[in-house]
Amino acid sequence: MIPPINSGSYFVVGLTGGIGSGKTTVSECFRTFGAVLIDADEVSRALTGANGVGSRAIAAVFGSQALDPSGALDRVAMRKRIFSDPAARQQLESILHPMIRAEMQRQLSEAANAPSTPYVLWIVPLLVEHREAHGHCDRLLVVDCEEAVQIARVQARSGLTRDEAQAMLAAQTLRATRVAAADDVLPNNGAVEEIAPKVQKLDTMYRSLAAIKRREA
Ligand code: ADP
Repeated sequence: MIPPINSGSYFVVGLTGGIGSGKTTVSECFRTFGAVLIDADEVSRALTGANGVGSRAIAAVFGSQALDPSGALDRVAMRKRIFSDPAARQQLESILHPMIRAEMQRQLSEAANAPSTPYVLWIVPLLVEHREAHGHCDRLLVVDCEEAVQIARVQARSGLTRDEAQAMLAAQTLRATRVAAADDVLPNNGAVEEIAPKVQKLDTMYRSLAAIKRREA
């Protein structure tokens, strides 16, 4: 679950897509056009990294076995711990979610206070699944790609077997459901060079929509 952020009068584009679809690559392209990125995974990873406030708070409740020797959250151990224990999962979420939300909200306020920031791109891998968070976006952009391409990219990146990569895809929302929920779809089956012109068009549209929202606020 990803806690929602409150966008207020600020224009927020939610960006999502399946694993290996190209979310990170596309987001980085948006950054070159001037968008400010808020990455939910990155925020979560920073909080649960070595000596992160999230890691310490989790250890205070779940014990030091929740951490690895570096003081970061031991994700594998924690995943096992909460797998068959819904109460533990809830407890973990009740610790982490307010922290993730506060940090994303802080980043959003920082962006909103910088007059040169046109809009925020909020990157959330499972945005479509989380209706409440989804509801806080002004626009939902889905990076879409053929499943065979996704699998090949995930395999190339991680060294997973084909079956493992396929299982990760199967655990996510169906591609068609994600695309149906989108306001905008960026197809990413082709070469990396094809991304920038598509991002440029979307960036132009988002800047206009953001300006309208600002005027109406
Ligand atoms: P996600 O963030 O959705 O998991 P990434 O942006 O990390 O996806 O892309 C997954 C992998 O595929 C990365 O290694 C990336 O460099 C590569 N990749 C992304 N888009 C393309 C593309 N259009 N052509 C070739 N490789 C790509």
